Amino acid sequence: MSMSSIQEQVARYGYVTEAVADDLDLIAEINRLKKEKNAVILAHYYVDGAIQDIADYIGDSLGLSQQAAATPADMIVFCGVHFMGETAKVLSPNKKVVIPDLNAGCSLADSAPADKFAAFKAQYPDHLVISYINCSAEIKALTDIVCTSSNALQIVNSLPKDQKIIFAPDANLGRYVAHKTGRDLVLWDGACIVHIDISREKLQKLREENPDALLIAHPECKEDILLQADFVSSTTGLLKFVQEYPHDKFIVATEAGILHKMKESVPHKKLIPAPATDNNTCACSECPYMKMNTLEKLYNALLYEQPEIIVPENTRLKAYASVARMLELSKGI
Ligand code: SF4
Repeated sequence: MSMSSIQEQVARYGYVTEAVADDLDLIAEINRLKKEKNAVILAHYYVDGAIQDIADYIGDSLGLSQQAAATPADMIVFCGVHFMGETAKVLSPNKKVVIPDLNAGCSLADSAPADKFAAFKAQYPDHLVISYINCSAEIKALTDIVCTSSNALQIVNSLPKDQKIIFAPDANLGRYVAHKTGRDLVLWDGACIVHIDISREKLQKLREENPDALLIAHPECKEDILLQADFVSSTTGLLKFVQEYPHDKFIVATEAGILHKMKESVPHKKLIPAPATDNNTCACSECPYMKMNTLEKLYNALLYEQPEIIVPENTRLKAYASVARMLELSKGI
């Protein structure tokens, strides 16, 4: 297969569509290619379990960006969504960064188009911009400090009390941070389709059926879910809580992919995904973008080193400054 036809496939479909032979041992081949190309596979907790199982590192946005910054590999294969691949490229410009499918976007990142956000920011010239990592490289370039749900409170608290702040793009996380820190934040009105789709009514019913379960939630959920939660934290924080808190039953209000790791680490505990409003197949909250990552696309991405993430250098340099500031402020988390 010539490189130009591979690039044509990527330009047309967003990923390498080359069929993988039925009898190919995908796992063995991925491991072989990884070694041969000195590549590392990073996977977010929300991708399918089969991909998590083959990854070199599994984590949430903070952990994965720390790994991307530190890896000695020549190539990063990022199984997550587009902005995560971009963040890896921002941090590691000399490494090749590929993702299995360019169509794996993010509703939250898409809710903040750079031109509209630049106009919004211009209305508040004396404000510092803190952006949740779930945004495009262009938004990061318009940002002073990036944060994740693991370090948002710490980053806001590290600033002087009278510092005026714009928080973008997730309004639910922003409201949560404002509430926890007592700050008056100017919020960009973005949201994640997965977390805001958790159904309050179905959750109420589930809680009535399971009165002995603790409700744990990600701060991207709506305020009415967060107000009734027993514990609110980042994906990694929720995982740790389930592992360490002496309780046997939890309702987990975040993307259901995290249950793979949770079940693996606490197989004796009962973990119930919070229900979504729509009638998807599993009746839980699944990110359609994360599920675009498949073993076949991962194999093709490794083999053909496509689709590659490219970030223009002027954008990268500005985005780098805001991400580097976060990594500096998050040391020890
Ligand atoms: S779960 Fe939400 S925030 Fe995370 S990648 Fe999917 S759409 Fe984006």
